Amino acid sequence: MKILIFFGAPGAGKGTQAKKLAAKYNLTHLSTGDMLREKIKQKTELGLIAKKYMDKGNLVPDDVIIGMVRNFITALRNTDGVILDGFPRTIPQAEALDAELKLYDLEVCDVVFLDVEKQTLIDRLSKRAEIENRKDDSDISIVENRINVYNQKTAPVISYYEKQNKLKKVKGEGEIDDIFNSIVNIISFL
Ligand code: AMP
Repeated sequence: MKILIFFGAPGAGKGTQAKKLAAKYNLTHLSTGDMLREKIKQKTELGLIAKKYMDKGNLVPDDVIIGMVRNFITALRNTDGVILDGFPRTIPQAEALDAELKLYDLEVCDVVFLDVEKQTLIDRLSKRAEIENRKDDSDISIVENRINVYNQKTAPVISYYEKQNKLKKVKGEGEIDDIFNSIVNIISFL
């Protein structure tokens, strides 16, 4: 099974590009944000816990996220490949992912880092707030908090994968199709 990670700040375009790539190459798109929003909609216990963090733009605790993703990896083990979108977002999550994959003799193939300027992120998130009605996109102080949380807790994951020679940086600004072509060109197994 091929495992790709789409990495970047909120609003970097991970979801947009991951969906396109998954459709074209028959990969499973796994967005932890979408999974959590689904659990909130179903009012599950996990959803109720997650909502408290998500509404403020904070990260959901590692143990909650790692447990949720572990179940999915087990279920997807025999598929062609998976794109992880929005996970891992902390060093402990990245370490837990490596440990889980190792159990099945698997490892991450590539980490696509969509690099986008802060002002572009803010502009995109406020546009998305109108379209998708997401509470965490519609308040500028929550958006600013998400970007700060990204810089503090998620950005260190970049060097984690750099050390493993898996990080592939792509400029995530410009036309969606041009960014998509750059992504396709740098993925090692395509
Ligand atoms: P996203 O849809 O990826 O922007 O995620 C929306 C929100 O869900 C984030 O701001 C976090 O509160 C939460 N979330 C999603 N993925 C994770 C993760 N891997 N670790 C912690 N929190 C997450």
